[in-house]
Amino acid sequence: MTRIAVYPGSFDPLTRGHLDIVQRAARMFDHVVVAVSNNSQKKPVFSVSERLEMIEEAVRGLPNVDVDTFAGLLVDYLRKKKARVLIRGLRVVSDMDYEFQLASFNRRLYKDLETVFLMPDDQYTYLASSMVREISRLGAGADQFVTPFVARRLKLKFGAK
Ligand code: ADP
Repeated sequence: MTRIAVYPGSFDPLTRGHLDIVQRAARMFDHVVVAVSNNSQKKPVFSVSERLEMIEEAVRGLPNVDVDTFAGLLVDYLRKKKARVLIRGLRVVSDMDYEFQLASFNRRLYKDLETVFLMPDDQYTYLASSMVREISRLGAGADQFVTPFVARRLKLKFGAK
């Protein structure tokens, strides 16, 4: 049986912390799908196609990783993909409240599902897309937090300073 894991998120934009989790998952599962959520309730800085492009560029060297997008219920998407493993990253204790609630709900909706929490390398513990967006908006370079490709996209989006 092929072990397929889905790593869903907003990825607005992908950070080195996200990428660290993708690399860990790729070592653990046969196939990993990074799934960009197309959630109309959130107002993202980057469009779905821009986010897909940035992730595709970043995972090019990982042959068992695919990039996709989904709308609607995550569990419906997981069933469609025949995935029984959901990957989430855990940085700090404060992530747990929300993540445990999500995992519990998802398992009620899809009983064969296991949520696997992965911890990133220490240097990414305090890294969040929201911070990257904020400093970019204020004119700071985000090179140490994102891939060079994403850093260029941030400069284009917010204007090079
Ligand atoms: P969402 O809106 O679904 O939380 P995010 O793109 O913010 O989407 O995050 C997707 C997943 O990646 C979440 O599980 C989040 O906890 C995790 N994550 C975000 N930043 C990091 C990081 N720096 N290190 C490890 N995991 C992270």
